[in-house]
Amino acid sequence: MDIPFLHITQQGFVELLEQRIKQQEKTFVVTANPEVVMKANEDQQIMNYIKKATYVTADGIGVVKAAQILGDSLPERVTGFDTMVKLLERGNQLHYKIYLLGAQNEVLQKAIQKINQDYPNIDIVGHQDGFFDWTKNDIAQQIKETTPDLIFVALGVPRQEKWISENLDQFSHGVFIGVGGSFDALTG
Ligand code: UDP
Repeated sequence: MDIPFLHITQQGFVELLEQRIKQQEKTFVVTANPEVVMKANEDQQIMNYIKKATYVTADGIGVVKAAQILGDSLPERVTGFDTMVKLLERGNQLHYKIYLLGAQNEVLQKAIQKINQDYPNIDIVGHQDGFFDWTKNDIAQQIKETTPDLIFVALGVPRQEKWISENLDQFSHGVFIGVGGSFDALTG
């Protein structure tokens, strides 16, 4: 499939990201579902975004099954949503600073409320809904100024991968993860 999937369990992956945050190592995560794999194989630009990722995980049983058939087994699926929820749990214990980027404003506001309520030790240092002017650079600037540990990017595929790969060079640290419709799922 030409995508370098990480061989790791969901729990192992959360622990790995926790280490990356602790060591302040800049990280770009793509959780690739079958749709992403297909889009990347049809569109070189999307493949280029994915190739910039630090880690690519198998987001969905379809990817795990396909890998097994191709003789390169992956332990289990590691989804964007599960990774986000587990990082919120750990973030609540470890007082993470997070930035939320994406979704409709109403959904984003609900997600902020839910995180404040369920994970009170997390500090949401900034947020921006997903319908903004891409030609302006104010979001990256805000992220640089507020230095979040974790940046959840919920713009859908491939917008979130595009935004992260185009902006990544500007940051010195932070774990950036594309989480698709996870803000909607968190509040739905
Ligand atoms: N979204 C966004 N900006 C856009 C288009 C979509 O923030 O320009 C948000 C959308 O509101 C939703 C999320 O991206 O919260 C996921 O969208 P979609 O279901 O289209 O993507 P997928 O989950 O299939 O990657």
